[in-house]
Amino acid sequence: MDEDGGGGGGSSGGVSYICGDCGTTNEIKAKDPIQCRSCGYRIMYKMRTKRLIQFEAR
Ligand SMILES: [Zn+2]
Repeated sequence: MDEDGGGGGGSSGGVSYICGDCGTTNEIKAKDPIQCRSCGYRIMYKMRTKRLIQFEAR
């Protein structure tokens, strides 16, 4: 059952995320938990998205 993770890309299988705390780039697969391997922070930002994640606080 390896049909998981076909998103229409052609990547090696992982998506690069940037840690929201230390800024380390982590390549995380779809079946892996989103967590920084360096500091353990759980909030990660996708590198491939052009939009920055913003909160409408105002
Ligand atoms: Zn981190």
